[in-house]
Amino acid sequence: MAEPVLQLTDVVKNYGKTQALKGISLSVAPGEIVGLLGPNGAGKSTLFQLAGGLFAPDAGTVKVFGMNFRESASQILSRLGVMFQARAIDLDMTVEGNLKFHGALFGLHGRQLRERIEAAATLLEITDLLKRPVRTLSGGNQRRAEVARALLNNPDLLLMDEPSTGLDPTTRRMLVKHVQQVREQHNTSILWATHIVEEVADADRI
Ligand code: ADP
Repeated sequence: MAEPVLQLTDVVKNYGKTQALKGISLSVAPGEIVGLLGPNGAGKSTLFQLAGGLFAPDAGTVKVFGMNFRESASQILSRLGVMFQARAIDLDMTVEGNLKFHGALFGLHGRQLRERIEAAATLLEITDLLKRPVRTLSGGNQRRAEVARALLNNPDLLLMDEPSTGLDPTTRRMLVKHVQQVREQHNTSILWATHIVEEVADADRI
């Protein structure tokens, strides 16, 4: 079997007296879509923060692409796409401005950057919106712009923490469809956290 892109083993994370993760083990295979389903407070965001290297577990191990953050953070981050629960996109910049800035952080520039932006915008169907300030877009289109941004580095693993928060059911279905297309085109693994069962109905595993 191929090496997992994400491997959590017996992971524990406490916030003071609150035990947020109590010995969690989870692995995600290349190209696999895994839905992480649980009510508020279940520990999903905590798990994402560990998988994204924002902090280390109190016990257990977190490996991404077979590496750990302590030794190989930049190698991991170059192959990771992250979309947080809260909106994290500059509202005053255009969609294109946001994508260019984010791409530059990954060392993309010139023609390669333009091609990546074009490809991501096509996939998310936001090409017509590239010149618009993010603030003027609907919530659904802002989320699509965030997914496009998370794809610029052609990530091998996409972490999406409740990406459909605040979206109506139709837009939510669009987002699910787009994410499945990303997997089909790039064999990207996706970990999708949600408390909405329908959203992850087509995941390979829940
Ligand atoms: P979910 O994303 O599933 O809603 P979280 O990971 O946000 O769950 O939270 C898991 C538990 O940890 C909850 O009991 C929450 O109150 C607690 N928690 C989360 N973040 C913090 C924090 N920064 N400080 C203290 N407690 C926290």
